Amino acid sequence: MSTSRYPQNWKEIATSIKESFDWRCTRCNRVCLRPGQKPPELTLSQRRVYTLQVHHFNFDPSDNRLENLAPLCSGCHLYYHRFRRGNISPGQLSLFK
Ligand SMILES: [Zn+2]
Ligand SMILES: [Zn+2]
Repeated sequence: MSTSRYPQNWKEIATSIKESFDWRCTRCNRVCLRPGQKPPELTLSQRRVYTLQVHHFNFDPSDNRLENLAPLCSGCHLYYHRFRRGNISPGQLSLFK
């Protein structure tokens, strides 16, 4: 896969989006874990569910206007991508944090 359409500072953009939404998923309202948060009561796979990712509504990672971006938990993020044609696999998705 190619990540070349992501801007250099994607990580910072993504983090500031997540911050501004208070680390909440915009679809299900789940409050996700911040970087470094590792609650011992959650298993690794549970933690993955609480991982916030930033989604591009038009599926264009080079379009980083605020209105094109929304934080989603990994489950909701998958949901959006599952109904998209021209497919991305769940494995690839985990790279799009
Ligand atoms: Zn969600
Ligand atoms: Zn996405």
